[in-house]
Amino acid sequence: MPGFELFDHIERKHLQDVTDTGVLMRYGFAGARNGHWKAKEMEAAICQKTGAQHALLLSSGTAALTTALAALGVGAGDEVILPPFTFVASFESIMTTGAIPVMVDIDDTLCLDPQAVRKAVTPRTKVVMPVHMCGAMAQIDELREICRTHNLFLLEDACQAFGASFKGRMLGSIGDVGCYSFDFNKIVTCGEGGAVVTNSKDLYERADQYHDHGHDHTNDDRGAEGHLSPGYNFRISELHAAVGCGQIVKLDRFVDIHRQHKKVLKDALSTVSQVTFRRLPDPEGDSATFLTFFMPSEESARNAIKALKAASIDGAFHWYDNNWHYIRKWDQLKTRNFMHPLYKAMLDLLPDYSKADFSASDAHISRAISIAIKMGWSDDEVRRRAGKITEAVKSSL
Ligand SMILES: *Cc1c(COP(=O)(O)O)cnc(C)c1O
Repeated sequence: MPGFELFDHIERKHLQDVTDTGVLMRYGFAGARNGHWKAKEMEAAICQKTGAQHALLLSSGTAALTTALAALGVGAGDEVILPPFTFVASFESIMTTGAIPVMVDIDDTLCLDPQAVRKAVTPRTKVVMPVHMCGAMAQIDELREICRTHNLFLLEDACQAFGASFKGRMLGSIGDVGCYSFDFNKIVTCGEGGAVVTNSKDLYERADQYHDHGHDHTNDDRGAEGHLSPGYNFRISELHAAVGCGQIVKLDRFVDIHRQHKKVLKDALSTVSQVTFRRLPDPEGDSATFLTFFMPSEESARNAIKALKAASIDGAFHWYDNNWHYIRKWDQLKTRNFMHPLYKAMLDLLPDYSKADFSASDAHISRAISIAIKMGWSDDEVRRRAGKITEAVKSSL
């Protein structure tokens, strides 16, 4: 899956451009940088790839989510609806702005269940944040409709879904604002990096300011620039942007390879009648970084993971037992073990996640297994794996 699998002279050339001048910062030093503006170049490429009018490249996907929320003006006491199957960064970014993460169930798309979202809307709700998990899409039409009805912002956490689309529109570019991650494990990587995209000039400008201490970026002299508001430092370096410039031009090829490999595995596994697959609202738009299927029960899913390990199949995940991606193991949140004190008002508003009922989500996640698709596999290897995976799954039923 990760873009670093196919790292070559193209990334090295962009890096060389930067190291030749020594200008590692994205702002200023116009005379010394020999015409190289790697962060700007990658931002233009993100707009071109996603169809979004504005893109801001920054230091991580987590920074992108935090910046997007700040730019939306979402903070103290505002509720953000998100799924419990995501990466911890989703709720961390919400809490960073002082807002309240309100998790609601997912369905067989493994993304937000629109019905659960509808039920969770309160007068405090400001944002619906679907997370397009494992390279594929949430039910974005339904979620958009809910946002329209209740006058809420739609913020797409598309950190895992760069290159995926829904009915021809790139995930991340459909809501009011979208976020991508270019960390080391994503389909396109900067090493570390992320992006905010939007079609709103105003939102873009607010994000641009927030991610760089409030700088209005209207002057060559940073010391002379205005600051509308305090912000933070979520800037990307030119070195990271350079890697991204080399990676992003390969995106279409990356997605093609993933789709070819995934199809071979899925065709093989489709012969096992007890196995069902994650529902994709638009199968054509899947970036195919994972193949996700459901075993008939939690027990058979655990058996399958063991059998896959025994067959030396790497990159198989049972998210139910995973510390990173599902609420079941998020003890840090359940026990409220925060590094520093939070305002009492915030703790009062925060749902008690030690008691929350996610049995509807459990019913899907406890049976779900995802296999990470690798680009580096040869055709022979993909076929061999397809056979081994199918055998391991059959033996677990
Ligand atoms: C990777 C990821 C993030 C955070 O991105 P980083 O660049 O690692 O900070 C946020 N949300 C999801 C769903 C992710 O997978």
